[in-house]
Amino acid sequence: MERRLSKKIKLGNIYIGGDSKITVQSMTNTDSSDFDATYRQIRELENCGCDIVRLTVPDMDAVKTVARLKESDINIPIVADIHFDYKMAIEAAYAGADKIRINPGNIGGEDRVKAVVDACVLKNIPIRIGVNSGSLEKSILDKYGRPSGEALAESAIYHASLLEKFDFTDIILAVKSSRVGDMIRANRILAEKTEYPLHLGVTEAGTVHKGVIKSAAGIGGLLLDGIGDTIRVSLTAHPTEEIREGKAILSAIGINEEKGINIISCPTCGRTKIDIISIANEFEKRASELSVDRKIDVAIMGCVVNGPGEARECDIGIAGGVGEAVLFKKGKVIRKIDESRIIDELIEEIKKL
Ligand code: SF4
Repeated sequence: MERRLSKKIKLGNIYIGGDSKITVQSMTNTDSSDFDATYRQIRELENCGCDIVRLTVPDMDAVKTVARLKESDINIPIVADIHFDYKMAIEAAYAGADKIRINPGNIGGEDRVKAVVDACVLKNIPIRIGVNSGSLEKSILDKYGRPSGEALAESAIYHASLLEKFDFTDIILAVKSSRVGDMIRANRILAEKTEYPLHLGVTEAGTVHKGVIKSAAGIGGLLLDGIGDTIRVSLTAHPTEEIREGKAILSAIGINEEKGINIISCPTCGRTKIDIISIANEFEKRASELSVDRKIDVAIMGCVVNGPGEARECDIGIAGGVGEAVLFKKGKVIRKIDESRIIDELIEEIKKL
């Protein structure tokens, strides 16, 4: 896949866009004025692989939290999410935020936009414009009749133009809709018309099951076409869940493949004679505790007739028989294992790889 070459923008100790890795981000759901709770949640997010974290900054108490977070041992970039109040954006910039999320069209006149730009230039931090289907300008809604992909993209370009007036181009764009098709269309338009990095997400995607499906379709579809530089899987769930699912989406499409066990299991069919569903689920739990220094593809297949062949590319795997399974490596059968020992022996073999 050829990746769209966007502008590379520095964000704290990492980059977004250009050839930098596709980052996974989330947003805290603690009260931003509660430093301890916010700090704890960001640590949790950091520990599960979050690359960038955003918190809402509605008042000076939240600004103080930003300042304390920046003095703490948190390593990932902190993004201040601002709605309407340009003064909070300036305060957050001075407090050390690594990026400001604000829509310049919503904060008043040009003098206010300039004041925010000046603070970001001085602190050398970028601005993310975040356009959502629920908060489009009335004039654009009237023009398009609904928050279509075209409408979302036009709004993002309009907000960016307000910053460009002051020669500010360290901009990241996000156009989100709860409709996957609109979000995809909007990002495709921006990918063509601008060079800014794109933050992908399906907004109000829902609870974990539905939200992950929508996000995988929207985010995954765009990434497979080389579009997108950072992602957020919005879920009605704990923020760490967003990171896990975001990483799973990247891994599923072969991006940023991380060290670890990648399970390939067959869907089962009439040939399956052992309980492959339980074995795959139990193995997944046990495998999550294994520490491996590279990516290992492990196949859990239902039958010896097709299993090893279907999973030829895997490093190791099992294929079920009657009351037993065969262990295979790179498609070649090695030996038989009793059904009761399948998971234990597979784990032992993986440790030897
Ligand atoms: S590996 Fe065997 S059991 Fe599993 S789906 Fe394929 S044919 Fe069926």
